[in-house]
Amino acid sequence: MPDQQLNGSCLCEAVRYRVTPPFMRFSHCYCSRCRKATGGVRATNIAVPIDQFRWTQGEELIARYDLPEAKSFARQICTRCNCPVPHASRDRQRVIIPAGTLDDEPVTKPTAHGHWSSRVSWVEIDESDLPCSD
Ligand SMILES: [Zn+2]
Ligand SMILES: [Zn+2]
Repeated sequence: MPDQQLNGSCLCEAVRYRVTPPFMRFSHCYCSRCRKATGGVRATNIAVPIDQFRWTQGEELIARYDLPEAKSFARQICTRCNCPVPHASRDRQRVIIPAGTLDDEPVTKPTAHGHWSSRVSWVEIDESDLPCSD
Protein backbone atom coordinates (compact mmCIF):
# COMPACT_ATOMS: atom_id res chain seq x y z
CA MET A 1 0.00 0.00 0.00
CA PRO A 2 2.39 2.71 -1.11
CA ASP A 3 -0.04 5.61 -0.72
CA GLN A 4 -1.60 4.55 2.56
CA GLN A 5 -2.34 7.78 4.44
CA LEU A 6 -1.35 8.03 8.08
CA ASN A 7 -3.09 10.14 10.70
CA GLY A 8 -1.42 11.76 13.66
CA SER A 9 -2.33 14.03 16.56
CA CYS A 10 -1.06 15.71 19.72
CA LEU A 11 -1.77 14.45 23.25
CA CYS A 12 -5.08 16.36 23.60
CA GLU A 13 -5.99 15.52 19.97
CA ALA A 14 -6.92 19.14 19.20
CA VAL A 15 -4.19 19.23 16.54
CA ARG A 16 -4.46 16.58 13.84
CA TYR A 17 -2.63 15.92 10.61
CA ARG A 18 -2.42 13.48 7.74
CA VAL A 19 0.74 12.36 5.98
CA THR A 20 1.19 10.34 2.81
CA PRO A 21 4.23 8.04 2.42
CA PRO A 22 6.79 7.47 1.07
CA PHE A 23 9.08 9.12 3.61
CA MET A 24 12.31 10.93 2.68
CA ARG A 25 13.79 9.91 6.00
CA PHE A 26 12.70 7.86 9.02
CA SER A 27 15.41 7.76 11.67
CA HIS A 28 16.37 8.06 15.29
CA CYS A 29 18.46 10.98 16.52
CA TYR A 30 20.46 11.03 19.73
CA CYS A 31 21.75 14.62 19.67
CA SER A 32 21.44 16.83 22.73
CA ARG A 33 18.96 19.14 20.99
CA CYS A 34 16.61 16.25 20.28
CA ARG A 35 16.93 15.10 23.88
CA LYS A 36 15.92 18.53 25.16
CA ALA A 37 13.16 18.85 22.60
CA THR A 38 11.58 15.50 23.42
CA GLY A 39 12.57 15.01 27.06
CA GLY A 40 13.65 11.50 26.06
CA VAL A 41 16.92 9.82 25.20
CA ARG A 42 16.29 10.13 21.48
CA ALA A 43 13.94 11.55 18.90
CA THR A 44 12.44 9.45 16.15
CA ASN A 45 11.51 11.66 13.25
CA ILE A 46 10.01 11.25 9.81
CA ALA A 47 10.70 13.74 7.03
CA VAL A 48 8.41 14.14 4.02
CA PRO A 49 8.13 16.66 1.18
CA ILE A 50 5.74 19.40 2.31
CA ASP A 51 3.12 18.49 -0.30
CA GLN A 52 2.67 15.04 1.30
CA PHE A 53 1.54 16.63 4.56
CA ARG A 54 -1.54 18.52 5.68
CA TRP A 55 -3.12 19.71 8.88
CA THR A 56 -6.65 18.37 9.30
CA GLN A 57 -7.53 20.15 12.55
CA GLY A 58 -6.23 22.71 15.06
CA GLU A 59 -3.49 24.40 13.06
CA GLU A 60 -4.33 27.70 14.82
CA LEU A 61 -3.30 26.20 18.17
CA ILE A 62 0.29 25.60 17.07
CA ALA A 63 3.26 27.60 18.38
CA ARG A 64 6.72 27.48 16.80
CA TYR A 65 10.21 27.85 18.21
CA ASP A 66 13.26 28.16 15.97
CA LEU A 67 16.47 27.54 17.86
CA PRO A 68 18.40 30.77 17.08
CA GLU A 69 21.90 29.29 16.92
CA ALA A 70 20.84 26.32 14.78
CA LYS A 71 20.80 26.18 11.02
CA SER A 72 17.49 24.39 10.94
CA PHE A 73 16.47 23.07 14.35
CA ALA A 74 12.88 23.96 15.22
CA ARG A 75 10.04 22.68 17.27
CA GLN A 76 6.29 23.09 17.24
CA ILE A 77 3.83 22.32 19.98
CA CYS A 78 0.10 22.31 20.52
CA THR A 79 -0.53 25.23 22.88
CA ARG A 80 -3.40 23.41 24.55
CA CYS A 81 -1.47 20.32 25.72
CA ASN A 82 2.09 21.64 25.10
CA CYS A 83 3.07 18.46 23.29
CA PRO A 84 5.13 18.22 20.10
CA VAL A 85 3.54 18.31 16.68
CA PRO A 86 5.17 18.27 13.21
CA HIS A 87 6.90 21.37 11.83
CA ALA A 88 7.93 22.60 8.41
CA SER A 89 11.62 23.12 7.70
CA ARG A 90 12.67 26.79 7.52
CA ASP A 91 12.90 26.58 3.73
CA ARG A 92 9.35 25.14 3.63
CA GLN A 93 10.54 22.16 1.58
CA ARG A 94 9.93 19.42 4.11
CA VAL A 95 7.88 18.59 7.17
CA ILE A 96 9.53 16.92 10.14
CA ILE A 97 7.15 14.63 12.00
CA PRO A 98 7.84 13.32 15.51
CA ALA A 99 7.03 9.66 14.84
CA GLY A 100 5.44 9.21 18.27
CA THR A 101 2.62 11.55 17.25
CA LEU A 102 1.37 9.08 14.62
CA ASP A 103 -1.90 7.35 15.42
CA ASP A 104 -1.57 4.92 12.53
CA GLU A 105 1.31 2.51 12.06
CA PRO A 106 3.66 3.15 9.17
CA VAL A 107 4.54 0.13 7.06
CA THR A 108 8.24 1.04 7.11
CA LYS A 109 10.64 1.27 10.05
CA PRO A 110 13.47 3.66 10.98
CA THR A 111 16.55 3.11 8.85
CA ALA A 112 19.34 4.85 10.79
CA HIS A 113 20.71 6.07 14.12
CA GLY A 114 21.82 9.69 13.80
CA HIS A 115 24.29 11.43 16.16
CA TRP A 116 24.95 7.98 17.62
CA SER A 117 28.05 9.07 19.55
CA SER A 118 26.00 11.76 21.35
CA ARG A 119 23.71 9.20 22.98
CA VAL A 120 23.48 9.08 26.76
CA SER A 121 25.48 6.47 28.61
CA TRP A 122 22.80 5.70 31.19
CA VAL A 123 20.42 3.84 28.91
CA GLU A 124 21.50 0.81 26.95
CA ILE A 125 20.35 1.14 23.38
CA ASP A 126 21.02 -1.97 21.38
CA GLU A 127 19.90 -1.40 17.86
CA SER A 128 23.06 -2.43 16.08
CA ASP A 129 20.90 -3.62 13.19
CA LEU A 130 20.75 -0.08 11.81
CA PRO A 131 23.62 1.98 10.45
CA CYS A 132 24.92 4.56 12.95
CA SER A 133 26.28 7.96 11.99
CA ASP A 134 27.42 11.11 13.79
ZN1 LIG B 1 -2.81 19.19 22.01
ZN1 LIG C 1 18.83 15.41 16.86
